[in-house]
Amino acid sequence: MAVTKTRPVGDIRTLFDLGVVNFGESRDQEASAKAGRCADLPVVWHFVGQLQTNKCGSVARYAHVVHSVDRVRLVRALGAAARRQRRQVTCLVQVNLDRVDPGEPDPRGRGDAADPDRVRGGAPERQVRAVAEAVAAEPSLRLGGVMAVAPRGACARSAFQRLAGSAAVVRAVDRDAVIVSAGMSGDFEDAVRAGATHLRIGTALLGDREPVVR
Ligand SMILES: *Cc1c(COP(=O)(O)O)cnc(C)c1O
Repeated sequence: MAVTKTRPVGDIRTLFDLGVVNFGESRDQEASAKAGRCADLPVVWHFVGQLQTNKCGSVARYAHVVHSVDRVRLVRALGAAARRQRRQVTCLVQVNLDRVDPGEPDPRGRGDAADPDRVRGGAPERQVRAVAEAVAAEPSLRLGGVMAVAPRGACARSAFQRLAGSAAVVRAVDRDAVIVSAGMSGDFEDAVRAGATHLRIGTALLGDREPVVR
């Protein structure tokens, strides 16, 4: 999919004319505005950014696929929001592939100084099954598979190979949950080798982004 965060709607229309139908966004405010302005285009919206429970009501209005589902509380909020909208939202369980030494603080939500737009998230591997089962239990949600961001500075290839284990755990909950969303501009070849079905590509399609200041 084309990740169009920070890009103008004109870029989405250009890519659509070239045949791209899957678009990824990472901030709700920007995504909902763009989805509104592209309501005439039959595109599939992927929400790939970190999601807070208080944004679920908005995201459930336009997102077809949410890639960043990483905790049961979020599943419940998104499930309730989708039900209210009478929509079916596909959810990917985001897996945290940062290696954590036991005793280290949980890195969840830690900002990344070099790329403030890329905030780490994801369920620890041991919680993947519980999150997947919670998705499967929500009538308004469909379990789609897994998503991960390679840890910065680590070997993307071995991280994506580890993701295959979580993908199997999720497929054991629902055998149709075959999506593996892994790989960005810098590491998509490793992701493809490790079995990715969906790549999230921004920079390689659209050039460098201005850094986002939160
Ligand atoms: C921004 C972003 C991408 C795209 O990154 P590029 O390096 O520009 O291809 C992919 N996935 C997520 C979660 C992102 O936030």
